[in-house]
Amino acid sequence: MWTDTHCHLDAPEFDADRAEAVARAVAAGVTHIVLPAVEMANFEAVRALAHAHGFVYALGIHPLYVGRAHDHDVQRLRQTLQAHRGDTRLVAVGEIGVDHFVPGLDRARQEHFYVEQLKLATEFDLPVVLHVRRSADTLLKHLRRIPVRGGIGHAFNGSEQQARGFVELGFKLGFGGAMTFDRALQIRRLAQSLPIEAIVLETDAPDIPPHWLYRTAPQRAAGEQARNEPAELPRIAATLADLRGLSLAALAEVTSANARAALPGLGLLHGPAAPAQVLGAPAERRA
Ligand SMILES: [Zn+2]
Repeated sequence: MWTDTHCHLDAPEFDADRAEAVARAVAAGVTHIVLPAVEMANFEAVRALAHAHGFVYALGIHPLYVGRAHDHDVQRLRQTLQAHRGDTRLVAVGEIGVDHFVPGLDRARQEHFYVEQLKLATEFDLPVVLHVRRSADTLLKHLRRIPVRGGIGHAFNGSEQQARGFVELGFKLGFGGAMTFDRALQIRRLAQSLPIEAIVLETDAPDIPPHWLYRTAPQRAAGEQARNEPAELPRIAATLADLRGLSLAALAEVTSANARAALPGLGLLHGPAAPAQVLGAPAERRA
């Protein structure tokens, strides 16, 4: 059983075959999936998808969407968190953070939304799912003064020191398709050297395709697709299993346990792996 801790299943890239993508994921053993929101407009979509398929979701405003967000969206997020407080599938505030990679973004506005959403996470006692891109130090600065209950730094690509900063604050770091590229030396070094308890797996589908799905810009211009999907998680995980010298089964178990630790709501839903599931009780077997 695998846990994809970051998948944008509501993205339009899945409109044509969303149910099939879910079926492929489940067939590949990716039975637990975390669906982060990116803006008010998709809150209901991620909530409905989580309920329809037995997954979990997070609500938040993504740093790449704060430009078109309204100032009162933080207040509306608060009302939505309040309205769904009893929803066992709502497990985090996210995807939130700061992006210093994409040019032309309003850094002050990003930081304002990030800080206000950290405060909501503490108010509702939820972990956070963080978008970290060239922004680790900015994110850490605020996490050190606003005591959220941890969470996940998704698609992590910072330094070793920054990674340790997040881990010391109780965060797990998400690794996915980027790790499958031989040239991703820094990410691979981190994936190999961080404590295994600090690592969770993710696809970020439809984004961050692994190397076997990657298409160059000219290929994409010619109409070739480079869509990632949650069913790719076990093959992505094989890279990490190689780097760590672990079996796939052991890696699936430990990274899923890490996801449950980072997102306690996921643990409440699915609990620690029951012995019957580990051993494959008859009821769990499928032909
Ligand atoms: Zn994302």
